[in-house]
Amino acid sequence: MLLYDERVQLVEFCRRMQADELTVGTSGNLSMRRGAHIAITPSGVPYSDLTPESICVIDLAGNPVEDGLEPSTEVPMHTQVYAHTDAAAVVHTHPIYACTLSTLIDELPPVHYMIALLGGPVRVAPYATFGTVELAENSVRAMAGRFGVILANHGVTTYGDGLAKAYTRSIYLEWVCRMYYQARLLGEPNLLPADEIERVAVKLERYGQQAE
Ligand code: 13P
Ligand code: ZN
Repeated sequence: MLLYDERVQLVEFCRRMQADELTVGTSGNLSMRRGAHIAITPSGVPYSDLTPESICVIDLAGNPVEDGLEPSTEVPMHTQVYAHTDAAAVVHTHPIYACTLSTLIDELPPVHYMIALLGGPVRVAPYATFGTVELAENSVRAMAGRFGVILANHGVTTYGDGLAKAYTRSIYLEWVCRMYYQARLLGEPNLLPADEIERVAVKLERYGQQAE
């Protein structure tokens, strides 16, 4: 079976995504790239039903390379992210605070230093119908120089050099969205300057790498 290790990881992170309440129902989709192939979640299948066998394998143009379930409707977005970045994994979810803010703002401002994990303030990509090439193009354009994007009236997409990194970015993005939302309920939050976010981004490259 092609990309077996990736399939196992994808199923594990789908379960985690549900437990962390990062999405709702069958919304969202995860993928991992290895060489000329991408392993991606099937469309509209409950996460609790997923097994490694349910994961789809497509090529970099988005064409299925095996018989099996129908891949995610967001194949264009995943393939575009791989085409425009050095991503090894892509995570797309519908988290409630990011979705809420996506209807109100053009960019998530630097209210917390951990936004540096996303590369800086996270832009909101203009709305387009789910699963379209237009949404894929809007997403990668708004993601320039960042590791994530908020999709207007829809959700968020993040990427990383592995699935754990891409997933962690989604967790932190939702957490900063929640923090910004809460701060705005009480007033006008103080923001961090761009040079501080750059300093933190450098520190985060080493953060969490304890000596063996
Ligand atoms: P799929 O179930 O087809 O992956 O779609 C879910 C989604 O989030 C669409 O944007
Ligand atoms: Zn979606």
